[in-house]
Amino acid sequence: MKFHIMTLFPDVIRSYTDESILKLAQEKGMIEVSCYNIRDFSTNKHRKTDDYPFGGGQGMVMTVQPIYDCFRHILSLIPEGETFRTLYLSPRGRTHTQKKAMELSSFDNLILLCGHYEGIDERAIELLSAEEISIGDYVLTGGELGALVLIDSISRMVEGVLSSTESYQEESFYNSLLEYPQYTRPREFLSLEVPEVLLSGNHKNIDEWRREESLKKTLRNRPDLLERANITEKEREKIEVWKKESKLLRTDNEEGKKL
Ligand code: SAM
Repeated sequence: MKFHIMTLFPDVIRSYTDESILKLAQEKGMIEVSCYNIRDFSTNKHRKTDDYPFGGGQGMVMTVQPIYDCFRHILSLIPEGETFRTLYLSPRGRTHTQKKAMELSSFDNLILLCGHYEGIDERAIELLSAEEISIGDYVLTGGELGALVLIDSISRMVEGVLSSTESYQEESFYNSLLEYPQYTRPREFLSLEVPEVLLSGNHKNIDEWRREESLKKTLRNRPDLLERANITEKEREKIEVWKKESKLLRTDNEEGKKL
């Protein structure tokens, strides 16, 4: 999987991708992250990449020429026969999801365009046939954080990046449920003990406990996910009972209790 990032701030991308799991994945050749500075493609004598918006309005808009030439350059580097998809990080896009990360992980190349200022000239989106994608209902100063969210979430789906497929198949969202609580040593900290069942060695009981905790966590924090989750009739009945127990619906440490 090759990621091609079109940005005015390549160092922002590298500062994250050159660390930890993504760094290892690049070293092992499982993913490639290439940054292209849009400014390098500007034909303007001052290497300008933005201008005032037609029709007036706040701020500056990124011009189409350097974006288009940068894109053509990237296309020239993609070998014949390899698949690619182009995405523009934008608050106007559909919101990114785990399902989308899985879908995008099947492409050989992903070209990610990061906007800045007030955004980009609409013709760039058209010429690149770019799909607009958002990382949430808020506005950021640039697309770089969004590009990193995509690179990170998609790379985890690429075979070999994580130690085993189990690693993401049990995680939040994979089955439309949030993950159960995790514990590690010590067994007791500030009088808080690890649930007894996790120390029992009985894997059937552990699986049952985790499943139930996963359902409870989802009901508490993201009840909307339960609509599309694969759950049994018996589990649905349990959920109805929990819903009536208002205690369960309280968010964690809602009262700001000092531990
Ligand atoms: N004027 C634009 C609007 O209202 O839709 C917002 C521009 S924003 C200040 C600058 C850049 O940040 C955008 O071009 C986009 O690349 C990026 N950006 C901002 N919010 C984002 C979000 N929620 N998801 C992905 N990218 C975002």
